[in-house]
Amino acid sequence: MSNIAPNSPLALGLYVHVPFCARRCDFCAFYEREPRRADIARYMDGVIAELASLGPGRRVDTVFWGGGTPGILTPSDMERLGRAVLEVCGGAPAEWTVEMTPGTMRRDRMEVLRNMGVNRISMGVQSFDGRILEALGRMHTRAQVYGAIEAARAAGFDNLNLDMMFALPGQEFAHWEADLREAIAAGPEHISTYCLTFEEDTPLWLRLNRGQTRKRGEAEEAEYYERTWDILGTAGLAQYEVSNFARAGRECVHNLNTWRMQEWLGAGPSASSQYAGRRFTNVPSLDGWLGGVKGGNPELVDIVELDGTILACDSLLFGLRMVRGVDLDILEARFPTHDWAGVRSLAGRLCAEGLAAMDGERLYLTRQGRLLADSVGAEFLENV
Ligand code: SF4
Repeated sequence: MSNIAPNSPLALGLYVHVPFCARRCDFCAFYEREPRRADIARYMDGVIAELASLGPGRRVDTVFWGGGTPGILTPSDMERLGRAVLEVCGGAPAEWTVEMTPGTMRRDRMEVLRNMGVNRISMGVQSFDGRILEALGRMHTRAQVYGAIEAARAAGFDNLNLDMMFALPGQEFAHWEADLREAIAAGPEHISTYCLTFEEDTPLWLRLNRGQTRKRGEAEEAEYYERTWDILGTAGLAQYEVSNFARAGRECVHNLNTWRMQEWLGAGPSASSQYAGRRFTNVPSLDGWLGGVKGGNPELVDIVELDGTILACDSLLFGLRMVRGVDLDILEARFPTHDWAGVRSLAGRLCAEGLAAMDGERLYLTRQGRLLADSVGAEFLENV
């Protein structure tokens, strides 16, 4: 039976999680494991079986392979996985992103991906500074980043994202600015910038608790954000979400659809789905996930039955992180049972405080509001 409801008017994304990393980065709390050959083979069989069980039956608009490290797969495994994805999608999707680490972006892999229809590469650079890369436990070097960009361009990729991180151990603003300017000079179409967060039980979190590194205060973080926005904006990479910047027309459609509370299906251990009125996550365990896939009874965690209130709140929470904001009339038509009078009243207060503004029915955060996007979102969850 197909999981894909053929008649939904919502956009549909497909996320494939590849849960292997050669080494765990010191800040990372994602589900991933060592890339043992036998486990990769078991994963490949499982994910292809899971993908086959998803469809086809409806157009898939966007595909995103994330991880973990999708680039750890051999070119032939990538081709096998890609064929299974094309089968689900009924052809190449409009946007197909693969996350790659610089050290894995060899010419042969890039050509396989390009020939299958992958049209966007998202590269985890984080920093060009060798000292900082080492402090993060990253495996690549600055030279590998340039080699990777060259390999991607040579294979014909014209849509490249660089992930960069700030407020890192040992990084002062001048280091970050140098990193950011080097990222811009490398000529990507898209840059994502993330403020370091200390996830529980990661090596960096342990160092923080031992007093071996420091967490930035709110004012210092805000300064990083604002100066980052200015530098990228001046360079022609327009901000379209708190952490995301793109040249015109190169915004990540897969992520936009997620923030707009459309639908997505996830394949692979720990992959999440939001589909047909439910949100759920595949169990974050290779063995547990494989058992469910083989038995035709997926092992799911964090199952949420979605109603209009949950979706309306999440549409506001994620929608207000986007520079464009949200159209209250459209949301009200989509989720009529939510307390829209309460939303409008809170929006009025935020506007009066200078944190938000209205353009017709479009509510968006001001620059000051965007700095506080998470707490503004929390207000909509708590008070409406
Ligand atoms: S490569 Fe990515 S997923 Fe793997 S440990 Fe590092 S940050 Fe986490």
